[in-house]
Amino acid sequence: MSDFKVFDYMAKHQYEQVVYFYDRTTGLKGITCIHNTTLGPALGGTRLWNYASEEEAVIDCLRLARGMSYKAAAAGLNLGGGKTVLIGDPDKVKSEGYFRALGRYVQSLNGRYITAEDVNTGTKDMDFVSMETDYVVGLEGKSGNPSPKTALGAFHGIRSALMHKHGDDTISKYTYAIQGTGQTGYYLTKLLLEHGAKKVYFSEINQKYIDRMKKEHPQVEFVAPKDYWKLDVDVLSPCALGGMLNDETIPQIKASIIAGTANNVLLDEDIHGNMLKDKGILYAPDFVINAGGLINVYHELKEYNEGRAIRDIEKIYDRLLEIYKIAEREDINTNQAAKVFAKNRIQCMKNIHDNYIKR
Ligand code: NAD
Repeated sequence: MSDFKVFDYMAKHQYEQVVYFYDRTTGLKGITCIHNTTLGPALGGTRLWNYASEEEAVIDCLRLARGMSYKAAAAGLNLGGGKTVLIGDPDKVKSEGYFRALGRYVQSLNGRYITAEDVNTGTKDMDFVSMETDYVVGLEGKSGNPSPKTALGAFHGIRSALMHKHGDDTISKYTYAIQGTGQTGYYLTKLLLEHGAKKVYFSEINQKYIDRMKKEHPQVEFVAPKDYWKLDVDVLSPCALGGMLNDETIPQIKASIIAGTANNVLLDEDIHGNMLKDKGILYAPDFVINAGGLINVYHELKEYNEGRAIRDIEKIYDRLLEIYKIAEREDINTNQAAKVFAKNRIQCMKNIHDNYIKR
């Protein structure tokens, strides 16, 4: 028997709402968690996963929804944090009815929650969702593939880390190593090359992407995955999987900056965030530096305008500088400082709405 108590967890981390839904026609089984809507409607993708238990599903949903509150707040967006998880085998459950049923549950929340694609759900699925609800973003033909925009945000994040560390953000003066060149890492490499990067290395495990890089950018040097962390470069840019910064990799690091697109890159936020701080390595908090795609999709909620979206993405530069200042002032690691920054913004907006204004 499980002893996970949803209400206790909600109280501890101040969640607003958890909704369970089941559609008897299609077998759709899911949970939507809304963490905080102080800044605006909760936005977060729909993840389809064959969870081993309902407890595992609700814990994942709660954790991801809270992460979205901080990510949206730190990105300067008027959005709260939410998430949906669907329990099922991605190879078996998908159908038009399944996703339209999901759309109806999303609609029933009346705009408190906006969904998008996530692990094992894609734009085609969201097209079905959009037949039943107004509250879905990331649709085909709107803001488009988020990866180039995530890479653009990371590019400005790298510039801001260089500025903080060296007082000079000229890309051409430094060396870089990208881990993972699937989508975001690929676009980031291109941006660094376009700005005259002194030297770029890349590491990959997928032969298709290794061949693509060698063909398109032969000057970018391949390094075996096992040699990646010990590379003597200025910036390591993890753009692959989470959990990569851990007890094994951190002692190998010679670079003074870590700034990439990968989510949850610290295996343990506090332990490994502090290890980097103690080594004097500047870590650009993942959920701030990789928010470019989210900022881009947010612009779909109004009439999408790419120029405006790009201008908002560029603000990641200043936001990170502010976070580094908080980290120094409070003597905490940069990941903790990013959370302080996000929470301060939520609290500030809550407070300014205390004044009554007739509208
Ligand atoms: P992707 O799957 O297109 O690329 C990741 C690449 O990393 C793959 O090509 C994979 O082969 C490679 N890889 C995996 N393990 C590796 C290893 N040990 N060494 C070297 N290469 C390795 O994914 P993506 O969309 O570029 O996303 C990358 C990361 O950024 C993920 O953590 C994702 O959650 C995060 N992220 C992506 C976006 C986006 O817009 N795509 C937005 C925010 C965050």
